[in-house]
Amino acid sequence: MAPGTVTPQVTGGDQDLNLTASAIEHKLGDKPSLGLNGSAPPKTPLAELDASKLTYNLTTNPRPVPDEATANTGTETVCTDHMITATWSAKTGWAAPELKPYGNLSLAPTASVLHYATECFEGLKAYRGFDGKLRLFRPDCNAQRMLMSTTRISLPAFPPKELEKLLLALMAVDGPRWLPKDRKGSFLYIRPTVIGTSAQLGVQAPHEAMLYIIVSFMPKMDSPAGGMKLHTSPEDTVRAWVGGFGYAKVGANYGPSLLATQEARKRGFGQILWLYGPEGYCTEAGASNFFVVWKTKEGKTQLVTAPLDDRLILDGVTRRSLLGLAKERLSDELEVVERRYTIDEVLQAEKEGRLVESFAAGTAVSCTQSYGLVRYHTKMLMFSLAVLHLPRLCYPPPWPRRYDPHGQR
Ligand SMILES: *Cc1c(COP(=O)(O)O)cnc(C)c1O
Repeated sequence: MAPGTVTPQVTGGDQDLNLTASAIEHKLGDKPSLGLNGSAPPKTPLAELDASKLTYNLTTNPRPVPDEATANTGTETVCTDHMITATWSAKTGWAAPELKPYGNLSLAPTASVLHYATECFEGLKAYRGFDGKLRLFRPDCNAQRMLMSTTRISLPAFPPKELEKLLLALMAVDGPRWLPKDRKGSFLYIRPTVIGTSAQLGVQAPHEAMLYIIVSFMPKMDSPAGGMKLHTSPEDTVRAWVGGFGYAKVGANYGPSLLATQEARKRGFGQILWLYGPEGYCTEAGASNFFVVWKTKEGKTQLVTAPLDDRLILDGVTRRSLLGLAKERLSDELEVVERRYTIDEVLQAEKEGRLVESFAAGTAVSCTQSYGLVRYHTKMLMFSLAVLHLPRLCYPPPWPRRYDPHGQR
């Protein structure tokens, strides 16, 4: 699909003053051969990302494939033999992508990504099926989302279909050996990444960038016995905010969340349940989408999850798949509801014996059955059970307090 045909999900309405939304619209609407903002078209059209131009430089030194347990015990993520890189410059567009031996990148210390978080990524899995076939799970969704993320942070656009083809090309080379036939049901994790590489400290959109795709081992994140314990976020911390970028898979969303996660782990919890606003809206659990199954006071069973329209949460491929499956197959017994809901509503349901279950869903954690939906899981979709423990973090420290010049909280 050409970038020009992508309809950006900009906040609509009468407000036409949203600079970010307009910038995204312009960017997605720009054909590479047209000049920006109506200026004369450049003489040489900018090259599109083109998977058919992929060059192959295969390793002469393939590494032995470790068993999964060994691969996942070290402190360093183990990647496969190859990676794909493609560089982009504002002057020429995308260079031919290259499949080459996995190895370190070389970046100027002034590179944009190292200072201004011009980075976004994707995460999807390649599976060795029980039928012996290799499969990717909905890579088109990841490619589309990656375009949305790059666009949000002024990294270059690309036709998502070409990224999808590159994912397949890399898996075609490394998949057969790194997902051996005798490891049925195993998976590798694919991490496409785009970074701003311009060696310039000026705070501006990068004029050089690199797309790279690596493939790694990833531990199976089974829920601990009794389920994953969630700790609600500190009252003075939000993961994302309306008008922010919580909906994009950009690195800038994750680094700042680690402080709370680290503290929660010290207290014996697995992940943070990120709440939003004074109302305490439930948004996401760690870096996965969060769901609750409850009975309404009228006795109706609902699968409830945070909505996408306020752009606080990530539009997870697992989330989307799960809601689709639930609507398609469970509509007789379960109503699917995407709406804002508060932690108090969850607690109330718990108290009144109406809470059926809660679980987190995402590529990384899609591994354990949640007992309420186990009957309906597909090969690709299984959901981890999260048992909810909800102490609000108390103040004062160790949590830093929000700076408020008026002394109000
Ligand atoms: C990646 C991610 C998810 C899950 O998305 P999937 O496409 O299902 O893997 C959910 N929330 C956040 C914040 C994420 O980064």
